[in-house]
Amino acid sequence: MSFIFPPQPQTILPIRGKDEVFPVNRVYCVGRNYAAHAIEMGHDPDKEPPFFFQKNPDNILLPGNDFPYPSMTEDVHHEIEMVVALKSGGDNIAVADAMECVYGYGVSLDMTRRDLQGEMKKLGRPWEIGKAFEHSAPCSELVSAEDIGHPTQGAVWLKTNGELRQEGDLNQLIWKIPEMISYLSDLFTLHSGDIILSGTPSGVGPVQKGDQMHGYVEGVGELKVNVT
Ligand code: MN
Repeated sequence: MSFIFPPQPQTILPIRGKDEVFPVNRVYCVGRNYAAHAIEMGHDPDKEPPFFFQKNPDNILLPGNDFPYPSMTEDVHHEIEMVVALKSGGDNIAVADAMECVYGYGVSLDMTRRDLQGEMKKLGRPWEIGKAFEHSAPCSELVSAEDIGHPTQGAVWLKTNGELRQEGDLNQLIWKIPEMISYLSDLFTLHSGDIILSGTPSGVGPVQKGDQMHGYVEGVGELKVNVT
């Protein structure tokens, strides 16, 4: 049996200090997982639990690449997020067992066509056109939990052109990492290679061509991306 055309290439993330690389399977994103961001988007964090959406693995922008300003938008926003990368998965994973699935961590940007997302919200339609577009998930190299442990606190920030825009702390996550893995595994079968973008602190905002975004997660790493 042969392919009628070559399959699209596997998305692969580098791992700091290792020759091995991380093949990406699914990309899950958590919505409204920091109270201050839920409030800035017009929601009550006590009343609305976080929820999930997905990006495509080939939406990942590999480290070292520029972010081309996307089509069909005039309001593309940055959202700095810690990546949780899974080495195993399953269904109905207990919270107590969830951390055994975690390979490591990274830094990412959940780039969002906010104008299109807003229109879809108003119409009660899915968010794909606002969230799952080309290059919409710039990611850093990953770091293994073996090397850094499992961060539960530490600064998360994003600067554009050296100016602080977003600031929070991992200890402000509404749903903690094992809770989000457990919950996701009730909805979907998780697999090795899945990554989870764990939500963004407040201060999201637009970028323009020529801007430099600089994201940081304490104890994990950083990510610098130019908008072109
Ligand atoms: Mn997000």
